[in-house]
Amino acid sequence: MDRRTPPTGPRRNPYRSSPPPRRNVRPARPMPNARPGVSRPGGRSAAPPPANYRQYARHRRRGTLLKKVAALLVAAVLVGAVFVVLNAPGIQNLFQPEEEAQPAVAPVEQPEPTGFVVAVDPGHGGGDPGTEGISFTEEEMTWDTARRLMELLEADDRFAPVMTTDGTEYERPSQRAANAREQGAQLLISIHGNSGDDPEYAGFECYPVPPGRTYNAESLAFGRMIAERFGQTGERLRGEGGVRYLYYEDNNEKHVYEVSDTSVHTDTSFTLLEECGCPAVLAEQCFITSPADVDAFGDEDGRQAAAQIYYEAICEWYDTYGPQADTASPAPATDSLT
Ligand SMILES: [Zn+2]
Repeated sequence: MDRRTPPTGPRRNPYRSSPPPRRNVRPARPMPNARPGVSRPGGRSAAPPPANYRQYARHRRRGTLLKKVAALLVAAVLVGAVFVVLNAPGIQNLFQPEEEAQPAVAPVEQPEPTGFVVAVDPGHGGGDPGTEGISFTEEEMTWDTARRLMELLEADDRFAPVMTTDGTEYERPSQRAANAREQGAQLLISIHGNSGDDPEYAGFECYPVPPGRTYNAESLAFGRMIAERFGQTGERLRGEGGVRYLYYEDNNEKHVYEVSDTSVHTDTSFTLLEECGCPAVLAEQCFITSPADVDAFGDEDGRQAAAQIYYEAICEWYDTYGPQADTASPAPATDSLT
């Protein structure tokens, strides 16, 4: 429909009070500044302007209303965008003081570490007495020695000693290893007593994490620190300097290798050593079937002496490899036996 001509015929509103438009319409007053038919520079023709003031006013009102609606829409979009941006976690942290910035997920509450975590494994217990000695069970000696070692470590502010088991029930070596890991063990010592058919069998030996495993070097160094101290008391050191590697075959048969043998074996060593997740040594403190050994490291005085040796070796290891140590000093090579 040509917008220059008013509605005619059936489109006319019969209830209008104003007279119907005449057929010969007087030419409408030209629009101010109206320039009908002028082409825009881009080539598109401008929309024809309204023909008279009434249409012009309606056109203006409609245009003004559209502008208001558009402005409201733009404002709403802007407000929404600002709201979204300000609520983004990264932006929120910018407007918060450093110490008030909270992570999206609260971390699990962990007790504050109070020292270097040394795990002490009492070897047996919880219904497992170990082997029978000439005057006590292996369990009796290992638990007593472990308690004495715990007392020495607890008296030293540098250490936060933990036990691998509380002894109330039997826990397999794999469970004790898991307990050590869960408590954050950074160094582990497992205390056992040796036994033999012949009372002449005697001496100290210990087993570090074997070659080919993580922590072999640190474990070997720890084993040597312990064995040297036992040797300094005059105790016999079994094997090469009292440090050996042990593996179990599939049929559970033990195989012992001297420490100079750095070959890597697929057979597993002691489960506790393999799974505790930190440098670790299993010590056979003495033969509880040997009167001489029991006198040296099996009776009450001997257990205290053994606990003191373990403690001093832990201190030396801590000074060498612990968090306070000079990290520039590398772990000794596994084949540098002296
Ligand atoms: Zn044992």
